[in-house]
Amino acid sequence: NPPCEKFEYQAEVSRLMDLIVHSLYSNKEVFLRELVSNASDALDKLRFLSVTEPELLKDAVDLDIRIQTDKDNGIITITDTGIGMTRQELVDSLGTIAHSGTAKFLKALKESQEAGADSNLIGQFGVGFYSAFLVSDRVVVSTKSPKSDKQYVWEGESGASSYTIREEADPAKLLPRGTRLTLYLKHDDKGFAHPERIQKLVKNYSQFVSFPIYTWQEKGLTKEIEVDEDPAEANKVGEEDSKAELRNPKDVTTEEYNEFYKRTFDEYLDPLASSHFTTEGEVEFRSILFVPATRKDDIVNTKTKNIRLYVKRVFISDDFDGELFPRYLSFVKGVVDSNDLPLNVSREILQESRIVRIMRKRLVRKAFDMILGISLSENKEDYEKFWDNFGKFLKLGCVEDQSNHKRIAPLLRFFSSQSEEELISLDEYVENMKPEQKDIYYIAADSLTSARNAPFLERLLEKDFEVLFLVDPMDEVAIQNLKSYKEKNFVDISKEDLDLGDKNEEKEKEIKQEFTQTCDWIKKRLGDKVARVDISSRLRSSPCVLVSGKFGWLMRSQTLGDVSSL
Ligand code: ADP
Ligand code: MG
Repeated sequence: NPPCEKFEYQAEVSRLMDLIVHSLYSNKEVFLRELVSNASDALDKLRFLSVTEPELLKDAVDLDIRIQTDKDNGIITITDTGIGMTRQELVDSLGTIAHSGTAKFLKALKESQEAGADSNLIGQFGVGFYSAFLVSDRVVVSTKSPKSDKQYVWEGESGASSYTIREEADPAKLLPRGTRLTLYLKHDDKGFAHPERIQKLVKNYSQFVSFPIYTWQEKGLTKEIEVDEDPAEANKVGEEDSKAELRNPKDVTTEEYNEFYKRTFDEYLDPLASSHFTTEGEVEFRSILFVPATRKDDIVNTKTKNIRLYVKRVFISDDFDGELFPRYLSFVKGVVDSNDLPLNVSREILQESRIVRIMRKRLVRKAFDMILGISLSENKEDYEKFWDNFGKFLKLGCVEDQSNHKRIAPLLRFFSSQSEEELISLDEYVENMKPEQKDIYYIAADSLTSARNAPFLERLLEKDFEVLFLVDPMDEVAIQNLKSYKEKNFVDISKEDLDLGDKNEEKEKEIKQEFTQTCDWIKKRLGDKVARVDISSRLRSSPCVLVSGKFGWLMRSQTLGDVSSL
């Protein structure tokens, strides 16, 4: 038997393992994410290096990840055909903390423990390989680097201060290339060795790993070696799911996007629209966004879990609060995959990151392009459906996102004095403006009927000016935030001083003088109920009307029907 050499862990590693096992128990399942991400990194490395050193691939085995479970004995094996590790690399990688992410994690963990332990931390930080000990008593790593002609076995136990390395002696366990991790699960964690459980976790955490991930249904560990001859038995989880995301947008069909959408977000209806893009330059990421066909979440529900963030194709989080996507666009669903963010990205990092800010900006722009696409589609019903579901989100956007007013405004829809059946866009309104008309007119009312019967309307109708009927309370708020569209101001026709560009000052003065006494008398009778009584030229057939002051509170227009009570 080749000698078995014993090594002490670096002090930090011991501490980390201790912490992992004793404090981070509530989110154990992340071990799979970490280990699959290591396998994926190893495959990536091999693929990358083989560009200049093609002989690395001489074993001609596929690049993939295979996860096998033995539920009776509580064993999970994760095998990759990646770059593997030499003996020295084993010592360097699995006995020391070589990377800063873990050191940072230790620091954050210590701080949070001082403030009362936060077991969520492990989900925010990648703790890497050592997370295997969250669920395992014993971990065996058997690995073969193409740079070495020997295969080595690393073996460690939970709670121990040392690990061993030996040469692989069992010929049945020799790998062509790559790494096999064997996890001997703790008594209470044996449930992870159920194939369904593993499949679910893989689906959730590793959906976009760019290599196929095979999991086995009902096969014992003893058959492990036969696996290669029997790939049909393998149940591919990763590959199908990752297809749409990884391919060139040009090669993906609408059906494939729809399938992807339904699977990823547990939807049963096709989305209204999708947008798949890759950005390059300053920040590189890939994303597919979708507009759902129905609305599930209410506008107040900002934590929708609708945007799933992946880093290097490993699922990081879908629990955002406006960091990646503004609240008013929270109905948009999608996946985002970045290579520029660290795997251990935390909420704090997200909030402060310049990269995230740039991503957010691009995502928002793409979302608007996608919505504009629906609005320009020949199938008018699509946008009607969209507006019906998500119109109020866009109106909220007018309030919350001034910087995107230009993108939101063309998407808004309203009824008007000339279109009570069909909603019109602001562009259609502007198109329909009279040559002498300067402003965009609107009236806020609680129904189309009261808008239609508003006395203020009379003069505008006479001039054939179109008036927007704002019948949803959000309409008015949105319009007042926009202030103008295409350099035309929005003007509330119920406010005093409405100038339709046809003032005859001479005549008005005359009439005002004539009726001064009448006005005084009415004001006296009404007392504090009104601020002022004035003569105005804005009515045609109604004798008088209540208006709100120029800077006064909003008021739904109201004709004073019974003037005799004065
Ligand atoms: P990180 O992945 O952030 O580097 P980990 O603790 O997850 O940290 O892994 C430590 C190191 O161990 C990796 O950087 C890599 O060099 C090595 N390693 C882990 N798993 C594998 C694997 N399956 N194949 C090859 N190398 C691996
Ligand atoms: Mg890792």
